[in-house]
Amino acid sequence: MHGIGIHSVIDLLYYFPRDYFDRSTIIPIIDLRKYANRGKAVTVIGEVFRQETRRARKSTKLMFFLTMRDETGYVQCVWFEGIQWYKEAFEIGELLAVSAVPTWDRLGRVQFIHPQFDRLGSAEGDEPDWGKLFNTGAIIPKYRSSADLERVGLDSRGFRRIIRNATKQNLDFIEENLQEEIRKRAKIPGLRFALENIHFPADRDSLNSASRRLKFDELFFLQLLLALRRHHFKHEEKGISFSLESPLARALVASLPFELTKAQRRVLNEIADDMKSSKPMNRLLQGDVGSGKTVVSLLTMLVAIDNGSQVAFMAPTEILADQHYRTIANFLKGLPVNVRLLIGGQKKKLREDVLEDIRRGDANIVVGTHALIEEKVVFAKLGFAVIDEQHRFGVVQRAAMREKGYNPDVLVMTATPIPRTLAMTIYGDLDVSVIDEMPANRKPIKTAVRMEHQKQKVYGFVKEEVKRGRQVYIVFPLIEESEKLDLKAATKEFEHLQKSVFPELKMGLIHGRLRTEEKDDVMSKFKSGGIQVLVATTVIEVGIDVPNATILIVENAERFGLSQLHQLRGRVGRGADQSYCVLIADYGWFDGHARGKDLFALQEEKETARVRLETMAETSDGFKIAEVDLKLRGPGEFFGTRQSGVPGFRIANLVDDVELLQVARKEAFAVVENDPQLRSPSHASIRKHFETSYKEIFDLGNVG
Ligand code: ADP
Ligand code: MG
Repeated sequence: MHGIGIHSVIDLLYYFPRDYFDRSTIIPIIDLRKYANRGKAVTVIGEVFRQETRRARKSTKLMFFLTMRDETGYVQCVWFEGIQWYKEAFEIGELLAVSAVPTWDRLGRVQFIHPQFDRLGSAEGDEPDWGKLFNTGAIIPKYRSSADLERVGLDSRGFRRIIRNATKQNLDFIEENLQEEIRKRAKIPGLRFALENIHFPADRDSLNSASRRLKFDELFFLQLLLALRRHHFKHEEKGISFSLESPLARALVASLPFELTKAQRRVLNEIADDMKSSKPMNRLLQGDVGSGKTVVSLLTMLVAIDNGSQVAFMAPTEILADQHYRTIANFLKGLPVNVRLLIGGQKKKLREDVLEDIRRGDANIVVGTHALIEEKVVFAKLGFAVIDEQHRFGVVQRAAMREKGYNPDVLVMTATPIPRTLAMTIYGDLDVSVIDEMPANRKPIKTAVRMEHQKQKVYGFVKEEVKRGRQVYIVFPLIEESEKLDLKAATKEFEHLQKSVFPELKMGLIHGRLRTEEKDDVMSKFKSGGIQVLVATTVIEVGIDVPNATILIVENAERFGLSQLHQLRGRVGRGADQSYCVLIADYGWFDGHARGKDLFALQEEKETARVRLETMAETSDGFKIAEVDLKLRGPGEFFGTRQSGVPGFRIANLVDDVELLQVARKEAFAVVENDPQLRSPSHASIRKHFETSYKEIFDLGNVG
């Protein structure tokens, strides 16, 4: 039981069903024909009538056949694998629920191949008569189990039995943890009702209501955590009050070859207000690729430097850190600011020198990776930290960064827009600024999806544009298991393109395995126009800025994630000329490369790939793209749950439960607003639950 995190009766009550049998998907055996080969899974309930092991036709391979029957007929289930186990698994007369997509067999009968099954028990025994219950519309829970658990009798049926007992014996001891007013406003039932009905619902409505309550709890207590953390920073910590008089910032603005957009100015003011205030800043700066976040953050860094503070700028990867370092140094050319880079791969001597500079306070801006939060790094006076998150850091790293100074102001930036719901969850303790406007000189990028066989035409277009002086990126995905193979593929493709497609053009190749100097060499050639067509892997995803490059071609675009495609597209459209993005799709890839996979899973993958590419062609709005991406991938994968500090929800879902999240957030923030210490008697139960279940996370986020 420990393997699945069940240590107590309470854990057991919170072991929610993974799914339910419900009458809408259960059909009598006689109706199976209507569903044969239709791709839709259905469930039948019946008893085991006969079982046998025999050889397949014209083969030596053993197969296991199980015949089930209900009042309307018989159906055969077939297993090719795990015969030894299945042979022992069933008893004649046992009641089963069997689910799969029904198919035709050779003789025109309907069969189930490798169906999922759940034991419902025999007619006698300690469970109710499920067969009868189905006809009266009961909803039956299914539980996640594992081979180990099944061995000790804890299959889905076993869980039903022990959880049934647990609810009978322990529900009365469960304490309500939300007061009635909140439950009323949120339209949720009591906790006991919810815990009973999530397992053994009386009907659909009870199930929905139970599930709403339990989701609410998860969302509410998380929001409470965020509200407390936010309150803590706003009211209890003393931060630095910066003077906004900054000659450096003024000098930079004067030297910019462009005017700041209205959105950039608005956001600057929001950040400036925070900096002036003596409360520590905790602000998230969101903005689409190319919206001009870097300049904004740089101006605020200069304000801090003019106040005698050091600034740390933390990026998620070495490549990014390096690029930010260059960009910043470039902007600051001619200004008396000492910018240093601190990353893992540096030579020892250089590293010592950088560390010494940081310790003495000679380094004004230190750009780096998480190397910045290592123990050895000691700032003389860190007053301002910028964290470029890219989804990769979390609460803990943010806290560690903060620790390096005495309550420094912290500005978190994200290059990939985050859907509102996720922002509220992950960054719910931060204030948010959004740059929602692109610099005026940008033309929208024209995006098209083309098929593999249309490539020649695309190449023709490339030749024409290059003739007119434009430059081109051609991007290859990393698709094989090994990076080595990928590089080989990209290199081969590069050679082929140079020799047979664009013999008259100057081409270059860049990928992650090149040494830094080699990369620099290729990039500076591309920047100066010495390379017209740059073949690249996804290393160009971030930070690269060549305004004359106006065409981006993505090969095997079906293999890329949506956010990644959006980031890649951000490499073009950075100048005043019309830019183009061509996504070359090869949906056949899925069939060729995923042999042995489930057919339906493949179909689904193909479908989502198509949705991704269509979304790219339809919109360039990073927020819309992020919403779609979140829907397609689910929050876990979207964010890489663990790093980013999103607690794993058992039941709430950030895609579907937006309305409830908003209600929960409002309630939680109201509680903290009125009673920040949770001292009032009406909040005693909330406090108690919070302290037992969430305190640890709260302390973690509070380091410092
Ligand atoms: P982000 O970091 O948000 O992706 P950048 O800061 O890299 O965007 O800005 C993209 C490009 O636009 C850079 O070359 C930058 O110098 C330029 N830029 C920034 N602000 C403006 C502006 N207001 N007008 C014109 N160009 C701008
Ligand atoms: Mg401040």
